[in-house]
Amino acid sequence: MNQASRFLFLGLIALSSGCKQNPSGGEASTKPRLVRALSQESEGLPDNRVTRVGPFLFYSDQPLEEHNLIIDGLESLPSEIALELGIPASQRMVKVYLFSNQELFQEYVSQKYPLLPNRRAYFISQKRAGGFSEDLVVLTMMGPRVKQDLRHELTHASLHGVLKQVPLWLDEGIAEYFETDPRNKGFNPIHQEGLQRQWSSGTLPDLDRLESLSQVQQMHREEYRESWAWVYWMLRHSPEGKETLKAYLNQCRQSKTPKKIIEQLREKFADPNLAMMRSVGTLERNTEIGDGRTGYSRQLSESPSQNERAGRFASSPVALTESEIGAARASATNRP
Ligand SMILES: [Zn+2]
Repeated sequence: MNQASRFLFLGLIALSSGCKQNPSGGEASTKPRLVRALSQESEGLPDNRVTRVGPFLFYSDQPLEEHNLIIDGLESLPSEIALELGIPASQRMVKVYLFSNQELFQEYVSQKYPLLPNRRAYFISQKRAGGFSEDLVVLTMMGPRVKQDLRHELTHASLHGVLKQVPLWLDEGIAEYFETDPRNKGFNPIHQEGLQRQWSSGTLPDLDRLESLSQVQQMHREEYRESWAWVYWMLRHSPEGKETLKAYLNQCRQSKTPKKIIEQLREKFADPNLAMMRSVGTLERNTEIGDGRTGYSRQLSESPSQNERAGRFASSPVALTESEIGAARASATNRP
């Protein structure tokens, strides 16, 4: 690992830890692995093994070869994204810290990011010294959904690797789209079923509102669902929408303040919200997925109620930018 970038990364997250006490302080003797790591520069980050997969560098404490199903297919993810979205494939290096278990992961995150929501994975984009470039970092843990989470976070990284700016809702919507098993072609039956209930109860889509959100704390289960729905509709069910999305993303390559996509959609649809809702709200699951789905997407799609009760959103991946980390730090300072 580049020592300078590691120092900056650790320095930034140390600042974000605010005044929170070490939650494991009284249990240190029962966690020799963590105590040993904390005494070293890595401060609890897994780094015994380094495995390169395309532009992704995986840091882990276990040999990754034992879990090759986890990384299988990830090498081609940047080119999948590029092909679908009409943007260049990111070749930016991404550091992925893959914790061995939930305990080590949560302990690290609670110490370094005490104000962050509880999630299974995080993507962090942070400026290096001088502000001319950024480190792209993913933190996650081994578990039954690790491949889905990695696809989600590495989609964030791939977008941030080639775009100057990614609106929060679109960042999450695209990540939700690409986290699915590629054979599902972006379809998420849990989201679609949730949206049907949501829209039936009178809470209708509102892209103006989604585009106004700027903080990850504003993104709840409903916002993730709707963000996915817009992306899925544009990419899979609306040639005009896909054309608009691809044009918008290329504007995001050139500018940090492109014209709002809802305004661009209104040039092609009298009511984009209604057009999207009518399309996504009437999709048939079997038609969208077919018989080809397997693996982690099958696990999700076959027990929607169980996933909802288990709080899928509460542990869903999250993307943070440096400004959001800064905002969290500010609120910690102001906390009474
Ligand atoms: Zn995300």
